[in-house]
Amino acid sequence: MPNAFIPQTAADSSPRASGLWHILGAGSMGTLWATRLARAGLPVRLIVRNPARLKAYQAAQGLTLVEGDHAQRLLIDAQLPEDDDPIRRLLVTCKAYDAERAVAQIAARLSPDAELILLQNGLGSQQAVAERVPHARCIFASSTEGAFRDGDWRAVFAGHGNTWLGDAHQGPAPLWLEELQRSGIRHEWSTNIVGRLWRKLALNCAINPLTVLHDCQNGGLKAHHTEVEVLCAELATLLEGCGQPEAAIDLSDEVSRVIAATANNYSSMHQDVAQGRRTEISYLLGYACEAAHRQQLTLPHLEQLYQRLTVHLQRRGLPSN
Ligand code: NAP
Repeated sequence: MPNAFIPQTAADSSPRASGLWHILGAGSMGTLWATRLARAGLPVRLIVRNPARLKAYQAAQGLTLVEGDHAQRLLIDAQLPEDDDPIRRLLVTCKAYDAERAVAQIAARLSPDAELILLQNGLGSQQAVAERVPHARCIFASSTEGAFRDGDWRAVFAGHGNTWLGDAHQGPAPLWLEELQRSGIRHEWSTNIVGRLWRKLALNCAINPLTVLHDCQNGGLKAHHTEVEVLCAELATLLEGCGQPEAAIDLSDEVSRVIAATANNYSSMHQDVAQGRRTEISYLLGYACEAAHRQQLTLPHLEQLYQRLTVHLQRRGLPSN
C-alpha cells in the first residue's frame, strides 16, 4: 500500500494563523477530519488525553488516513488538554460518553468567542457539553460518513457521506464552512439540526439494538419485520410527543430502506459489542426512554428493548450506561 507522508508546514501550524482547528479526540472521526483539514493546508492541532498518549502519537509520527489502497500520513501538531494556547474553534470527536468530561478539561482555554463543533451520535451529550461551557457557541453535527481505526493513530475512510451542521439556537452559518468545502468535507448547514439528530437517533434505536440482540447483520432484521414495525410506531409517537413531528414522517419506510441498503453491514453497536467496547446506549435508547418518561408516554416495546439490551450488555461484562 503506498504510504505518502506529508508534514504540515510551520506557517500552517502557527497559532497566529486565523482559524486554527483544535481537535479533541484523535480516533476515527477525529483522524478523518484532522487529516483532510491539514491536507487542505489548514492549521490543525490535536488534543490527546495524557502524556502517555502524546508520547505514543509522537512515536507514530503523525496521523494516517487510509482511503482505498492508499495510506497518507500527516504530521499534525499534538498537545495535552492542560497546554495553554487559547482555543477558538474546537471539533469534539470523542464518544458521547467522554465528551463532557473531555471538554471540561479544556474549558478554561476557550476564548470568549469560542465555537465547538460536536460530532457525537445520539442526543444528550451535546446538551451536557453546552451546559458545561455556556459562554461558547455549540454547533451540533450529524454525519453519515463512516470511519474505523485499523491501528493506533490510523483511520480507514469506510463510507462517504454528508455532515449536517447546525445551531440549536438558530444562529447564522459560520464562515469557516468554506474551509470544509476546501477540505473536501461534504456538508450542509441545517436549520433544524435537533430534528435531524432525533431522526438519526430513531433510526439507530430501531435497528442497532436488535442487531445486537439477534446477533445479526442489518439485513438479518428482515426476519424480525414485525418487531421493527412496532418499534418504529412507538418511536414515531415519541418524536411527535417531543415536538419533532417532521422527524417522525415515514420513519418506518426509511428504516426498511436502511435495512435493505445496509443488509450486509454490522451496525456500529453490534461492532462495539462484538469487540468488547462500550456502546453509546445511554445517548440512544437511554435518551429515548428518558424522554418518553418526561413526556409521560407509555412505550412498552421501546422500554423492554432498553431493558433487554441492558441485561445483554451486563452479561457480557460491558457497561450498560
Ligand atoms: P473513537 O474512534 O473511539 O475515537 C474517540 C477518541 O476520543 C479516541 O481517540 C479517544 O482517545 C479520544 N478521547 C476520549 N476521551 C478523551 C479526552 N479526555 N481527551 C482527549 N481525547 C479523548 O470514536 P469515533 O468512532 O471517532 O466516534 C466519535 C463520535 O462520532 C461518536 O459519538 C460516534 O458515534 C460518532 N460517529 C462516528 C462515526 C464513525 O464512522 N466512526 C460516524 C458517525 C458518527 P484514545 O485514543 O486515547 O482512546
